[in-house]
Amino acid sequence: MRPPVLNPLFASLTALPGIGPKLEKVFVRLLVREGEKPRLVDLVFHLPTGYVDRRNQPKLSAVVPDTVVTVAVTIDRHRPPPPNRPRAPYNIEASDDTNTLTITYFNARKDYLEKLYPEGALRYLSGIATLYDGHLQMVHPDRVVDAAGFARLPLIDPVYPLTEGIYPNQLQRAIELALDRVPELPEWQDPAWVKRNHFPGFAEALRKVHRPASPDDLKPESAAWSRLAYDELLAGQLALALLRGHMRKRAGRGSAAEGRLRARIVAALPYALTQSQQRATADIIADLAQPNRMLRLLHGDVGSGKTVVALLAAATVIEAGRQAAFMAPTEILARQHFATIAPLAAAAGIRLAILTGRERGRERPEILSALAAGDIDLIVGTHALFQEDVAFHDLALAIVDEQQRFGVHQRLALSRKGEAVDLLVLTATPIPRTLVLTYFGDMDVSELREKPAGRQKIDTRALPLERLAEVIEAVSRALDDGRRVYWVCPLVEESETIDLAAAEDRYRSLKKRFGDTAELVHGRMRGTEKDAAMARFAEGSARILVATTVIEVGVDVPAASVMVIEHAERFGLAQLHQLRGRIGRGADRSICLLLYRAPLGETAKARLAILRETDDGFRIAEEDLRLRGEGDVLGTRQSGMPGFRLARLEVHGKLLSAAREDAALVLNRDPKLKSARGAALRQLLYLFARDEAIRLLGAG
Ligand code: ADP
Ligand code: MG
Repeated sequence: MRPPVLNPLFASLTALPGIGPKLEKVFVRLLVREGEKPRLVDLVFHLPTGYVDRRNQPKLSAVVPDTVVTVAVTIDRHRPPPPNRPRAPYNIEASDDTNTLTITYFNARKDYLEKLYPEGALRYLSGIATLYDGHLQMVHPDRVVDAAGFARLPLIDPVYPLTEGIYPNQLQRAIELALDRVPELPEWQDPAWVKRNHFPGFAEALRKVHRPASPDDLKPESAAWSRLAYDELLAGQLALALLRGHMRKRAGRGSAAEGRLRARIVAALPYALTQSQQRATADIIADLAQPNRMLRLLHGDVGSGKTVVALLAAATVIEAGRQAAFMAPTEILARQHFATIAPLAAAAGIRLAILTGRERGRERPEILSALAAGDIDLIVGTHALFQEDVAFHDLALAIVDEQQRFGVHQRLALSRKGEAVDLLVLTATPIPRTLVLTYFGDMDVSELREKPAGRQKIDTRALPLERLAEVIEAVSRALDDGRRVYWVCPLVEESETIDLAAAEDRYRSLKKRFGDTAELVHGRMRGTEKDAAMARFAEGSARILVATTVIEVGVDVPAASVMVIEHAERFGLAQLHQLRGRIGRGADRSICLLLYRAPLGETAKARLAILRETDDGFRIAEEDLRLRGEGDVLGTRQSGMPGFRLARLEVHGKLLSAAREDAALVLNRDPKLKSARGAALRQLLYLFARDEAIRLLGAG
C-alpha cells in the first residue's frame, strides 16, 4: 500500500552502517514510544534544539582562549605518553605560520591518533582552545577533518536532544546518513501557499534544519522549520477530516422534537440554566434536527454543568421516539450520572437504566432485552455499552463523557450500534484554544464559558509536607464546621504499589484521628466497595474521603468544600486543576491545600504559583502548554499532550487554522485523493503515520 518511493524512509535504523540491534534499542528510547520500531523517518524528524557556532576561523596567534574556534594546522610531531606513565596525556604538536598548538587526548589509542593525525598533514580542528602554561592547547577537538572533510564541515553545528547510551557524534552521523536517503517527493502543499511563505520543498527543508547555513535556519520560525511544522499539522487535519467524512458518509436521520420532555426536565431542575448552557443546548437541538450526522464537542471547564446539557440532548431524541446512550469513563462516574439523572428522568417520564461491567447474572440479559425491545429510552454506562452483544432498538444519540479516554476506534465501534448515530462528546479538559483544533479538528464545538451563578473562588495554598500537622488541624476544624473533605494521594503506574501503600497509610492515620468518618477509595478496590465509600461520602455519613485520582474526572459532591492534595509536585497542572474543580461547587467558601515535598523544582514552583493565582481553566491550560514547551526545548518528552514532533504550538499554532481550511478544501475538490496533489498528500499521511486515514478512503 505504501508508495514505494517512501520505502527508504521506512527502513529500520539497522539499515544504516554503524547501527546494530544494540544501538537501535537506544534509539527506541530517543525517537519513538515504547514498543514501536524506529525508522529512518524518525531520525530525520529528530530536530536540533541548538547549535555550536564554528564559524570563527582565526590564525593561531589570534585565537581567543576558551572560545570555540576552527583552525587549520600542520601536524608536526606526536608525543605519546612515556612507557613508564601510560596514563599521561597523549600530545600532538601542531602549528600554522603564526603559532603552535598542542592537541591533547586522555586515554587515547595510539594507532587511532596516528591515523587521524599523520605527521606533516594539514588538519582542520574545531573545538574549544585553552591556554595551558601560557601555551595554546585543544583537548579532545570536537571535529578533526582534512581539506575534503572541511569542505563538508557544518560550521553551524546542530545540537540534538540525546539520551543515555548514545554519543552526539553517533547521532549526528546517523541523521546525516538518513538525510542522504530522503527522496525528492512531489509537492503536496498548495503551490501558492508555498510561494507566499517562501517554503522550501520537504527534502530541502529537512536538509536546511539539519545542515543549517546560519543560526536563523535553526529557529522554529524559519521558513524551513515552519514548512515541516505545517506538513505535520496538515497531515493531522487531513486525517481528522477524512475520519469526519467517513463518519458522516451514512447520512444521519433528523430527530425533531417540540421540546415537551426538555421542558419537564428544566422545570424539575433546582436552578436556572446558564446562558452558555442554553446556547449549547440550542446548538445540539439544531444539529439533531438535521439529517446530517452530528459530531459535536461540548467543551466546558470543570463544574460548568455539562451533564444537564447532555440530558436535554438525550430528551430530544427520546421525544422523537428513539434511544440515547450516555457513556462515562469509570464505574463511579456512570453511577453518579445515573443518580443525578434518575429524578429528572422520572419527572420527564424517561425510562432509564444503567449498564456497566457490574450488571451481571439475571440482571444483564433483562437490561439487554429491554434495550433491544426499545423499553429503555436512556442507558447510562461504561465501556460495557459497546460490547458485542449490546443491541439497541433504535440508538439515535451517543453521549461520551470525557473524550480523552476514548480513541478513534471506540468512536467507530459506537457508530456501529445504530443507524447514523449522532455523537456528543463532553470534555472538561481545559484545552488551550490553540489546541482545540488539533484535538478535535473534526468536530463542531460548543463551549460552556460561564460557571453556574454563586460559585466562589477557591482559596488555594501551597505548604511543604513538614506542615502536615497544621493541615490536619485545619481539616479537624473544617470537619467540626460540618464540612466535607477530599484528601487526594498520588498514584502512578510505575510506583503503584508504593503509592497505594502510602494512600492506605494516610487513610489509617486519618481514621485513627477522625474515626469512622474517614473513607478510602482507590482504583484497586472492588466496584461495590468503591460505590459504598463514594455513597457514604456523598450522603455525608463519611466526611473525609481519602482517594487516589479516581475522583479526578467528574465526581460531583457539592457539599465537599475542602481538598488536600498530597505531593502536589507530582501532579501535572491540568490534573491539579481538574482535582480542585471537585470543590467550590456549593455555597461554602472552599479551600484547597497543596502539600508538597520541598525543595520544589522551578517548573513545579511555577505550576503551584499559577494554581494559587487563577482558577480559569483556559489560562491554566495555556500556562501548562508554556511550561511544557520549555520542557520540550530541553528535550524531555512529556506525555499526556498531543505529541507533535516538528510543530511547536507556541510558534506554529497560527498555522493550524490554515491547515484545517486547507484540508477541508482539498477534500472538497478531491474527496478520494485521486488527483496528483491527492497522491502527494497520501505520501504526506504516510510520513506522519496517519495512514489509518488512508484506509478510510478505501472503505466504501
Ligand atoms: P461538569 O461540567 O463538570 O460535568 P456537572 O454537570 O457535574 O459539571 O455540574 C456541576 C454541578 O453544577 C452539579 O452539581 C450541577 O447540579 C450544578 N449545576 C449545573 N448547572 C447549573 C446551573 N445552571 N446553576 C446552578 N448549578 C448548576
Ligand atoms: Mg462531568
